[in-house]
Amino acid sequence: MEFIPVNEPLLTGNEKKYLDQCIDTGWISSEGPFVKEFEEKFAASCGRKYGTAVCNGTAALEAAMISLNLNKGDEVIMPSFTIISCASAVIRAGAVPVLVDSDRYTWNMKAEDIRKKITSKTKAVMAVHIYGLPVDMDALKETAEEFGLKIIEDAAEMIGQTYKGKPCGSFGEVSTFSFYPNKHITTGEGGMILTDDEEIAERCRSLRNLCFKPGRRFIHDELGFNFRMTNLQAALGLAQFEQLDKFIIRKRQIGEMYLRELKDVKSIQLPLTGTDYSDNIFWVFGILIKEESGISAEEAMKMLAERKIGTRPFFYPMHKQPVFNNMGLFKNDLHPVSEYLSEYGFYIPSGLALNDEQIFRTAEEIKKIFK
Ligand SMILES: *Cc1c(COP(=O)(O)O)cnc(C)c1O
Repeated sequence: MEFIPVNEPLLTGNEKKYLDQCIDTGWISSEGPFVKEFEEKFAASCGRKYGTAVCNGTAALEAAMISLNLNKGDEVIMPSFTIISCASAVIRAGAVPVLVDSDRYTWNMKAEDIRKKITSKTKAVMAVHIYGLPVDMDALKETAEEFGLKIIEDAAEMIGQTYKGKPCGSFGEVSTFSFYPNKHITTGEGGMILTDDEEIAERCRSLRNLCFKPGRRFIHDELGFNFRMTNLQAALGLAQFEQLDKFIIRKRQIGEMYLRELKDVKSIQLPLTGTDYSDNIFWVFGILIKEESGISAEEAMKMLAERKIGTRPFFYPMHKQPVFNNMGLFKNDLHPVSEYLSEYGFYIPSGLALNDEQIFRTAEEIKKIFK
């Protein structure tokens, strides 16, 4: 029996053709023409004015956070249940992350919890959409407007997803994406920052490129980064972007197939098909084991590995991260849902290269484990 990887990208469109063009023309660095084309097309697909391509999603978050010009000690509310890139971007921008818990069913942060954490120091909210369903943005926007908070949106997992018909990535003062190979479209490593604000866009472009001053080169007023995306990456990105609609249809199909196959397994909680604002896009297909089953995610993942099925654990809560506790952060935080998700949640193969047979085999093995 062959091993079924948790994710494998699909590179069967114009990827090779565009990469060949890079090599044939010699344009392989960030100066090449695909970068601009990818930025413009991607930004337009989200209805945004400016796109800035960068070297990964973490870098996108870092530049985006810095571009908000927060002061030292300003607070940014964000979910505990997310990837560390979100919290590290806040800290590296000199601000303080303040955490909220997640919803047990959508796995997303909620406006009512954000409201409870607002203080006079709160300046921004980082809306991170998790796994396949967006944050309820109307509620979040209402709270942000009431308290004058900026919104930074991490839409890494929502490429092609919409909230009430509007593209994810169109909701933040500044919004970010990742093109890591498990995301809906990939550039190998890559990321994007979207905004309608010319100043933010300029700042992100400058931060991306070492904060070179216009005019005399090699003079700097500020320390930047080399976060540039190469033309090779953008070539891949463009070819992938052309297939996005098709990819989203397939992702939803994989999700619906798993839902159908696993619906009778009583000891697991499956992802929601959707909410009143979005249909699930199933970026990953997450499974949450019910406490009463007596099996932890770790045990289930081990059993599936023995059956040659790749899995990944859910995120580990930010308030439990040794690195942050050692900095004196989040010591008294309690976010029971995020702790539950990290202990009992894991996700199963759902990459774009997955075939139907592999989906059925994965579902069969899960049924055996939880019968
Ligand atoms: C993948 C991901 C990132 C980080 O992207 P990289 O390209 O791996 O740096 C950030 N936020 C979320 C929510 C992600 O899923």
